Order: sequence, then C-alpha cells, then structure tokens
Amino acid sequence: MQLDPLFKPVESLPGIGPKLAELIARVTGRENAEETRALDLLLLPPHSLIDRSRNPGIAFSPEGAIVTLTVRVDRHQPAPRGRSNVPYRVFVHDETGEMALTFFHAQSAWLERQLPVGETVVVSGKVDWFNGRASMVHPDHMVREADAATLPTHEPVYPLTAGLSPKVLRKAIEAALPLVPDLPEWCDPHLVERQTFPTFAGAVRQLHDPRDPVDIAPQSPARRRLAYDEFLAGQVSLALVRSNLRKLPGRTIATEGRLRERVTAALPFSLTRSQEAALADIRADMAGKDRMLRLVQGDVGSGKTAVAMLAMAEVVEAGAQAVMMAPTEILARQHFATLSKMAAPAGIRVEILTGRMKGRERSEALERIASGEAGIVVGTHALFQDSVSYHDLALAVVDEQHRFGVHQRLRLTSKGQAPHMLVMTATPIPRTLVLAAFGDMDVSQLTEKPAGRKPISTVTIPDERMGEIVARLRAAVMEGRKAYWICPLVEDSELSDLASAETRHAHLVRTFGPELGALVGLVHGRMSGEDKDRAMEAFKRGETRLLVATTVIEVGVDVPDATIMVIEHAENFGLSQVHQLRGRVGRGDEASSCILLYHGPLSETAHARLAILRETEDGFRIAEEDLKLRGEGDLLGIKQSGLPGFRLADISVHADLLEMARTDARNLTLADPQLATPRGEAVRMLLYLMRRDEAIRFLRAG
Ligand code: ADP
Ligand code: MG
Repeated sequence: MQLDPLFKPVESLPGIGPKLAELIARVTGRENAEETRALDLLLLPPHSLIDRSRNPGIAFSPEGAIVTLTVRVDRHQPAPRGRSNVPYRVFVHDETGEMALTFFHAQSAWLERQLPVGETVVVSGKVDWFNGRASMVHPDHMVREADAATLPTHEPVYPLTAGLSPKVLRKAIEAALPLVPDLPEWCDPHLVERQTFPTFAGAVRQLHDPRDPVDIAPQSPARRRLAYDEFLAGQVSLALVRSNLRKLPGRTIATEGRLRERVTAALPFSLTRSQEAALADIRADMAGKDRMLRLVQGDVGSGKTAVAMLAMAEVVEAGAQAVMMAPTEILARQHFATLSKMAAPAGIRVEILTGRMKGRERSEALERIASGEAGIVVGTHALFQDSVSYHDLALAVVDEQHRFGVHQRLRLTSKGQAPHMLVMTATPIPRTLVLAAFGDMDVSQLTEKPAGRKPISTVTIPDERMGEIVARLRAAVMEGRKAYWICPLVEDSELSDLASAETRHAHLVRTFGPELGALVGLVHGRMSGEDKDRAMEAFKRGETRLLVATTVIEVGVDVPDATIMVIEHAENFGLSQVHQLRGRVGRGDEASSCILLYHGPLSETAHARLAILRETEDGFRIAEEDLKLRGEGDLLGIKQSGLPGFRLADISVHADLLEMARTDARNLTLADPQLATPRGEAVRMLLYLMRRDEAIRFLRAG
C-alpha cells in the first residue's frame, strides 16, 4: 500500500548496516533495529540548527563562529615523522587573509586528494583565533568550488547517541526523505486552513529543512502539524478503544456491602475522605449500566491498594471475580500478601498467578480461577494469557498503569468478558497528560495522605561527601534502622546499571565491615524472580537493613519501617521518579529522611529541580514543575513504559492542539464510527503511520 516505503526497515536505506541501524533504533526510541523504520527517522525532529550562510572572509570571521569560506590551498605541512600528536596543517588564503586548516591523526593521502595545492575549495566549520592567526580544526565540510552548491547553508542537528556521527544520521534522513508519498489529508480542512498547516509530506520535508531558528521551534507550522497528527492518532485510537469498551454492556454490581464492611472493620485504620470518595465513585460506576473505566490517581502512599481491595470485595459479594494486575513480580507478590491479609476477615480467597509459576502450582491456581473458588486473583500480565480462563470476571484493576501499554488493556476485553476497569496510578499526571494517555477516562483523585504520616526531610548533598553519609548510615543501621540505597541510572544500558549496583554493594559491604557487612542486601532488575523476592523478604524481615537497589523498587514496594532513602546521582533521575522512590520511606510512624547525592557541578536546571524536591512532597506540584522545567511530555518515562509516547508533540507547548484533536476525534468517530468515509480512510492511514493501528482491529470486529 501507499505507506509501505515509509515502513522500510532503516537497514534497507543506502549506507545503513546493522550496526548503524541499532544506533538509529536508539535515537529514535525503538526497541531494536528491525522495529526501526524509515518513518522513525523522518519523524525525528532536529533540536537545533547550524547556520552556515555566513561568508565573511577569513579576516572577518569572529572567534568561535561557524562560517563558510572560499579559500585557495597554498601548502601542506604534514606532522613530523613519528610525532602523531602534532597536527597536520594545510595553509589557505582568501583576499582578506590567511588561515590554517588543522587535522589531527590525519591521513596525508586523503588530505592531498581533498585539498590539492592551487585549488579553490569551500570549507565550513568553526574558526579559532590564536595569537592573531586563524585556524579551522577539522572543517565540517570541504568541497571543490564547483561543488559549492552541495554544501548545506542550514544544517539541522539531531539528537545523537554514542557512535552515531551527525553526518551519517543526516545522510540517512536525506535518504529517507524521498520515500514520503503525498497522502490524502486526514485533518479537518477548516483546521488546516485556520492553523495554516502544511500537508503531512510538506511538514516532514520542512522539519528537516530548517532555514531559521524559528523553523525548529515547537511552534513552527511543520512541528505543529506533526504534533497535531500525533495527537489526533492517539485520540482517535483511544476513542475507538473506548467506544468498543463501552459497547460491551457493563455488568451491574449491586450489593449490600457486607463483605466490604467486614474488610473495612478489620482494617487497622479508617479510610481517608478521598479513599471514601473514590470508593463511592467506583461503586456508583459498577452499579450502573455502563462499564466502568476509571482512573484512580493518588500520590505514593495515598492508599490506593485499600480502595482496590474494597472495590474487589463488592464484586466478590456479587458472586463474581476480580483481578489485580501489577507491573512486576515483586509488586504482585506484595499485593498478594497485603490483599490476602485484608481479605481474610471477609473469607475471600485470594489467588496469585505470575509468569514464574510452573507445573502443579500453576495448574492448581488455574483450576481455582476457572472454578470461581478464587474470588480475587493477583498477578502480572500472566493473568491475561490465553491459557487462563475465569469463572466470571467482573472487575480488572490495573496497578501503576503507566507501566503498561494499551495492549494489555485490549487483551483484557478480548477474553470475551467485559470487566469493569479500574486503573490505579501513583504517577501524578497533569490533566493534559491524562487526556493524552488515557483519553476520556473518569478520574478519582486521592488528594490526602493517610493521617499520621510524618513528613520526609529531604537534603541534597554533593557526592564528595559520600564517606560521611556512609558513616551516618552505618550508625543508623547499628541502631536497627532500615535504609535504601538507590544506584544511579546509567544511560542506555541495563548492564551498567547492574554493574553500578554491584560495585556500590561491594563497596558498602566493605565499608560496613565484617560485623555489619552482612546487613547490606542487593536487589536489581536482572536477578531471577526468586532471588528478588528473597532479597526483598530479607529486607522486610530485617535480616538485611541496608538495601542497595536499582530502580526496580521504584513502584509500590512497601516496607513501612524503612526510614532512610539515599539516591545516588539524583540529578540524573526524573523528578517524579525521585518522588516515587522517596515515597518508599515515610510510611511508618518514624520520621524519615531522603538524601539526594548529586555529582556536581550542577547546571542551573538541575539545581532548580533538586530544590523542588527539597521544598515539597506534593507529587502534583513536582510533576507540574518538572513538566515546566523540562518542557517535555516525557514525565511518565514514556519511553520505558510502553505508553505510546509522542515524538513531536510536546504536551507543555501543544496543549491547545491536544484539545482540538480530542474534539476532532470525538466528532469524527461519532459521525463515522467505521472510518469508512474518505476522511475516515485517510485517518486510518494516519493510525498506521503513527502505529496506532491496534485500534483498527476493532473496526473489523465492529
Ligand atoms: P499506594 O497508594 O502508594 O499504593 P498503599 O496502598 O501501598 O499506597 O498504602 C500505603 C500504606 O498506607 C500502606 O501501608 C497502607 O496500609 C497504609 N494506609 C492505606 N490507607 C490508610 C489510611 N486511611 N490510614 C492509614 N494508613 C493507610
Ligand atoms: Mg500501590
């Protein structure tokens, strides 16, 4: 079909081998080279622009400026034999003055070919002045005068990753550009006119051909057009999913609330007002005719689990089943423990099902799930494998939703059941992001913290003082306190995260000494599930008291008597992520502290970000500030999470477009629910382009 060329693997583009394809996968945020298509390159926005249009002559080239110069080659001065640290110089002149082109570790044969003596060449690069002499070190471009027209006057600059040179990336993009076909317009014509949007193809071409800094700004017409396309694709696909979910009739859950009351009565606390309110929302939803699609948003420690438990008790009382899906094995086990305890007084049986269970254990669990003996089932995504069948599934709770893609949500409904959906997230998501990520979900917010929580005192300390911190930790551990030590995020490699955690663990064991060293535990993402559990259990029970961890403990882990949180290289973490991590302490009666170790010197922004963490524990404020400081929609850690991210749309600057796309999507799917009109057809194409085509399947099933 028309879009095929855009989905050619990048590897099939001229000049791109498997290695480069891997690197391109990385900059474009794809899983692997195979998944990376020409389109991904085309939607990679440049972040800045090099202007090579200045042509002032050698003598008038300002220090440090990028200029393009037409010069005559006078003489070569190779590095003296055996002194490869002395550069190779080529002296050139124009009518204003002289200059040296300077090359380190140069191949003289190549340079002689590129810059023959007596030739006129055009060079472009940065000019340096030293002792009144001009030089240009490794010009970015060198061409013969006759080829001067091939030299770009304006060069877009793309995000890079180690090993990928700007030139190679630019070439790859240039090779992909001719693949863009002219496509039918999927945007509303009035909108196109009002917004002066270029066409999709036009926008892609403009994106890579900036002439002025305003062209690469997020508010440039090309960027806005493509941002709108992303939003529209997202909103249409959410609208399709939603109307499909809504089409299936809801299952009315109306009870006297006996089980709920029994659970509540046995809780060691009384519910906060927000918890009560959220529960009332949920009960009203489930008692109605339509399916529930509700997001419970509550900061870390706001008590979402109890809300879920009580909702599930309602369902069990109605004779049906509820599942709760957690993003990780650790969390699933923890929920299992918590929910079992809460459910016991009401006589509700809680089952666990994870990918790790095998053989008899698994088949027996499946049996209890299929027979309905298990009222509540907790687990990971294994809950929705085809081999699992439920007796009567009426409610699905998804914890920490941002870790899941839309896929799991869809899979849920494809089991032929139409359970009510309750999504719980601790990530404080600003409204605009909720909209972008979830569409029109109903939202309940847990705005208060449970009573009796002590504030967490947060300090920022340069890592030069790590020794001091370790000594204080050692003293605290000796007093019987518990602490987490979170190791730095290492960019781009799970392996090096691991290395850093293992190194830190070894270091702390050593520093704690023979007696206390055994109290230092380690947990990281590459451990087997059993080992992770064991490490967590040991920490819970107090057999270890300092737990060195990678961010695997980020979400949900609950060890109430842990009171100290150390985060190493805190400046590398997202604000919300630090906030989540910090939420692991301050859960019990003891005062807690959080130590943010940073590696100086800090940039101004990094400074401001850490200051926010010191100032407030309000997750919403942190999230909004983060959004402001970063100007990015990456708050949810979208890349890692499988939540379809936006490449060009930036929610902090394109919020107006998001609103428009939402209205447009709603009207469109109402008027043309099968996307069968010409515009509907075009929108289908957009969904494919933006890889939102999972929603299209609903149409066929329609
Ligand atoms: P989160 O919202 O982060 O998932 P949890 O559900 O894990 O939070 O709850 C955090 C802690 O707060 C748990 O130890 C839980 O027992 C406790 N908790 C929940 N609700 C209340 C409440 N109303 N009063 C006091 N403690 C509560
Ligand atoms: Mg939780």
